Amino acid sequence: MASPKYASLDGEIVAWNDARVHIASAGFKFGTGVFEGLRGYWNADAKEMYLFRMAEHMKRLEFSQRFMRFDEIITAETVTEKTIELVQANSFKGENLHIMTTAYVSGMGGPGVCGPVGLAITVQERPRSDRVIGGVTAQVSSWMRVPDNAMPMRVKCNANYNNGRLATVQAVADGYDTAIFLNSRGKVSEGPGMCFFMVRDGVPITPSVTSDILESITRETVLEMIEEVFGVKPVERDVDRSELMAADEAFFCGTAWEVTPVLGIDRVNIGDGAIGPMTKRLQDAFFAVCDGSSGTHAEWRLPIYGTAATVKAAE
Ligand code: PMP
Repeated sequence: MASPKYASLDGEIVAWNDARVHIASAGFKFGTGVFEGLRGYWNADAKEMYLFRMAEHMKRLEFSQRFMRFDEIITAETVTEKTIELVQANSFKGENLHIMTTAYVSGMGGPGVCGPVGLAITVQERPRSDRVIGGVTAQVSSWMRVPDNAMPMRVKCNANYNNGRLATVQAVADGYDTAIFLNSRGKVSEGPGMCFFMVRDGVPITPSVTSDILESITRETVLEMIEEVFGVKPVERDVDRSELMAADEAFFCGTAWEVTPVLGIDRVNIGDGAIGPMTKRLQDAFFAVCDGSSGTHAEWRLPIYGTAATVKAAE
């Protein structure tokens, strides 16, 4: 896919190839940055692009910056305005988007450097992937999820993602699509970049927020939607590894993974090895909420082109 025309760097719209950071910055050297991945959903009938749960992502980005003790906090308002400006500048219409908003330490020095803080935003077209629809296989990783008192996954810090990288490359090398982490207590945690749900006897179950996971916005969305769609209260609790083999259905969820069926774990089929009925219903309902075709939960969608934002597309 061709590169977008523009990126946004430190508040300015710049040509894609000019969006560079210095090699001596802490952001580059130590991954001293925090980020949010978001999605834009195109609705062809409304001719509108909706950013999904922008406010919640921006709240988390502010939290991550505070947690990492950045000198300066780039506010939700600024990042929202700059993101809308960038989508408009690229005139993205007709396809779903993946957006990365990164607040990073542009200052030079060691890992303790706390500023200045820069803002980098990229937006790229990203159609829904086949694996989201068709499902994936997963390996219970021999890599442990980093514990909260070492490198908290609750904080969306760039450097954390090398834990997920190790598990992903191992899983792929071993012939799986992705990985499931256990945490330092040996309980199921999450995937490298997504949360995990399983269904047992009609009840969706997911590891609690004290399982060394990111407090995922899609997880919250799904927890709410499960009650709406099935009239069943989902359960948040510790999940044992052995329960994975007892699950009738399983799925991952996250901004990039949306609702993705898990077909097998460690080469054992989940259910009959195809997308489960509750997962399928939930997936359809989720897609319809994201692009607005369900007409429900307007509060979760920020329209880009009908927005009151005064920002103008750059020529
Ligand atoms: N866990 C991790 C480690 C992630 O990186 C992500 C993606 N942001 C998720 C879970 C899912 O979170 P969200 O639904 O907020 O995208």
